[in-house]
Amino acid sequence: MKPVLIGGEIYRGSSYGSRHPLAIPRVSSTLDLIRALDWVREENYRDSPMATEADLSRFHDPAYIKALIRAEAAQKVPPEERQQFNIGCNGNPVFAEMFRRPATAAGGGLLAADLIAEGRATRVFNPAGGTHHGLKNRASGFCFFNEPVLTILRLLDSGFPRVLYLDLDAHHGDGVQIAFTGDARVLCISVHEAGRWPFSGSAEDDGGGSALNLPVPQGFHDAELGYLVERVIVPAARSFAAPVMFIQAGADALADDPLSKLSLSNRGYWQAVRRALSLSERVIISGGGGYNPWSVARAWAGVWGIINGLPLPDELPPEAQAVLQNLVWDHRLGREPPHHWKTTLCDPPLDPQPVRAEVAALAERAGARFA
Ligand SMILES: [Zn+2]
Repeated sequence: MKPVLIGGEIYRGSSYGSRHPLAIPRVSSTLDLIRALDWVREENYRDSPMATEADLSRFHDPAYIKALIRAEAAQKVPPEERQQFNIGCNGNPVFAEMFRRPATAAGGGLLAADLIAEGRATRVFNPAGGTHHGLKNRASGFCFFNEPVLTILRLLDSGFPRVLYLDLDAHHGDGVQIAFTGDARVLCISVHEAGRWPFSGSAEDDGGGSALNLPVPQGFHDAELGYLVERVIVPAARSFAAPVMFIQAGADALADDPLSKLSLSNRGYWQAVRRALSLSERVIISGGGGYNPWSVARAWAGVWGIINGLPLPDELPPEAQAVLQNLVWDHRLGREPPHHWKTTLCDPPLDPQPVRAEVAALAERAGARFA
């Protein structure tokens, strides 16, 4: 069965505003790069449907959904709704597609869940998904709807008894953990930078038994991620034995990302994705964070390559380089981007580094739970 890639054109040219970290293209450049590599056939590609209000209300409060629809139409938010729903402020701005774009990302996740549940695919990639901070009745952390929660609920509603959620984003997957706190059908494993917003997800926080949090120190590197995957994530996944897995593959834990102080290369990130894919017969992969336009497009194109078992080239062919050459980034790091951001898929390999004691301690603590 061929993997399915879910995309859409609503993301092209859509921006959270010129001074927002999501000013940059991400899904459109990922799709362009995948197509330039000739890595997708039309029969493996699906245009994302937009989730309906009924779909969204499976998790979100109808009053909140209506407020987003009104805000998109009016392009403004009344002060009391700004306060109540956290929209039009705090990184969750008013913008042209502020309802349709997140509703389309959520619709992509629901399509992925349906393809999996109906046995029409076993690997689905929805790079627009992964909005893991969204809350039931409030926006949070650039996320208006919580696509992973809606998608996992659709899988459970379709009859899957358990879902494993693995979150590789630099930020704690707080919205997903909150939604499934104490729910024995879901295990939320989150690897994230300790001491970073939203400041939740400590190693002690087990989400009422449904979460495993791995808060990692600044400088977290490929060898350390590989260590946690083998020592913690693989045993936990085997013990939980879910028939379906959701991987939130946010790309903001990469060293080149401006919003975290983690130091992964895309090689280490892909290795974790590859290993996670080997743990389950059915896997949905989403995007997530990722705020450097070059590193996010390369990381997510590579994810699609891995799902398809394709060799990942170091040097890109000219058509693929052209996609990357055309990106601009109004950020200090974007003024003189290193050559390899525009010409390669794979980052240079990191020098071998030891696994630090605080990372080993996380594995030891978790090991007691999933021996
Ligand atoms: Zn993030």
